[in-house]
Amino acid sequence: MAIKNIIIVGGGTAGWMAAAALSRLKNNNLVDITLVESEAIGTVGVGEATIPPFVNFNELLEIPEHEMLAAVQGSFKLGIQFVNWGQVGDSYIHPFGAYGYSMGGISFHQVWHRLRQEGDRRPLQVFNVETMAAYFGRFSRTQDYTRNGARDDLPPVNYAYHINATAYAAFLRKYAEARGVVRQEGKIVDAKLDPESGDVISVQLDSGQVLEGDLFVDCSGFRGLLIEQALETGYTEWTHWLPCNRAVALPCNRDDGSPPPPFTKATAHPAGWQWQVPLQHRNGNGHVYCDSFMEADEATDILVQNMAGKPTADPNHLRFVTGHRKKFWNRNVVALGLAAGFMEPLESTSIHLINTGVDKLISMLSLDGITDAQRDTFNRLTEREYARIRDFLILHYKATERTDSEFWNYCRTMDVPDTLTQKIELFKANGQIFREEDELFTETSWAAVMMGQRIPMIGHNAIADTLHLAKTKAELDEMEKSIRFAVDSMPSHEQFLAQYCPAKEAA
Ligand code: FAD
Repeated sequence: MAIKNIIIVGGGTAGWMAAAALSRLKNNNLVDITLVESEAIGTVGVGEATIPPFVNFNELLEIPEHEMLAAVQGSFKLGIQFVNWGQVGDSYIHPFGAYGYSMGGISFHQVWHRLRQEGDRRPLQVFNVETMAAYFGRFSRTQDYTRNGARDDLPPVNYAYHINATAYAAFLRKYAEARGVVRQEGKIVDAKLDPESGDVISVQLDSGQVLEGDLFVDCSGFRGLLIEQALETGYTEWTHWLPCNRAVALPCNRDDGSPPPPFTKATAHPAGWQWQVPLQHRNGNGHVYCDSFMEADEATDILVQNMAGKPTADPNHLRFVTGHRKKFWNRNVVALGLAAGFMEPLESTSIHLINTGVDKLISMLSLDGITDAQRDTFNRLTEREYARIRDFLILHYKATERTDSEFWNYCRTMDVPDTLTQKIELFKANGQIFREEDELFTETSWAAVMMGQRIPMIGHNAIADTLHLAKTKAELDEMEKSIRFAVDSMPSHEQFLAQYCPAKEAA
């Protein structure tokens, strides 16, 4: 059946990202696109951190970066600082860019390990521009080096954003409506299925209005209005590996007057961890925890005691089950965002999964109709993507020496997927990291977390021993110097924001 009407159910980050991206179909008026949302139900929007592909999403839509950041009180993010994960008192940064560059065809951390064995004590971090800029609270985009008269041979800066998710959805709403997407306010109270095909044919609003569609994009949040409540797709649960199932979110002012750091902070606590996401005028904070090991009151107290200032709202308590729908595309319903699945925001992957879901949908969409091949491919690729991110998140819990709570004892000793065990064993033996196909996380990501959380790299790749020692050391000296020079030439993150994208209003 030809697709003439697309109905997007839900107007959170997922709904409006889908609407904005699909609005490109309106250029030739190929389809009608309607987004239904209910102000009474609201969105999750807890103030979010993103990862670099999100920059490309906005570029693809030709959204001016500075306008978007000003509208969402956004700031820049060079990586994530992890505190208290390997042991209480530990700290490391998982940066967005690579450590050094490959030498002799092998990864930089292999070369670094060889030199370390020869007595070079420099930490790996000094060979990464994002880490060094983060430590010094500085920021520039790559193109700003040249504009500022600095050399043009400096390392590229990889970055993402911290955004106010509610403001971002509002920004995209304007964008999508201007391009022909119709917004319909109302609460969906019923969905009608075709008795023969089982496809969803319409949704009914509390006003009695009925909206018919050929393709439905379910962005209704955790409830999964169509994918689960109407189609009963089922859910694959991963709580035995990722046991956190609750969060309490609470924004605060930066009462100490400190500038917004250009990184997200993830601090481990006795039964979970706390995020700090700095916007221009305030911090988003939250404590993700497991209710088998901690009560909500204690989790809230810990959060309040570890924030940079006084709360500016009441605590927002959320429950979730880690995992994903058994099918992301079922019949004529494609689930995106929280309706599709959820993994905790430890590596800021949720908005990214919306982004890749929308990309896949657009690249597979044919207005002639839906085929099994489309559905199967979409489901297979998405499932693989979820599983790889899952392994990377589990690593953060498994790679710990903490023995100070039952929660960490559970995580430290739990069984993990074989795919992750293999990754850890390979790394321990000689630092090998195999990035599988189009896996999201890079070698630097895996190396940063494994080393940052005390997984020992015992040996290194044999090629590293064949490199000329003095020449290699000289190359590393140059690399370190150019990173220093790059960071010294950057303004502070705060200055950059004030000059490039000052927030239109405080959030
Ligand atoms: P929601 O925001 O829940 O939106 C659902 C929409 O559906 C709403 O518009 C609602 O009105 C509508 N709706 C529901 N039922 C009906 C109905 N019956 N009728 C009409 N409309 C209906 N992601 C990141 O990338 N980085 C982070 O740092 C991050 N932190 C997070 C922290 C926590 C604690 C949680 C829970 C999530 C976090 N996420 C993060 C995930 C991120 O919040 C979501 O992926 C993103 O906001 C998308 O949400 P959504 O649009 O799928 O759902």
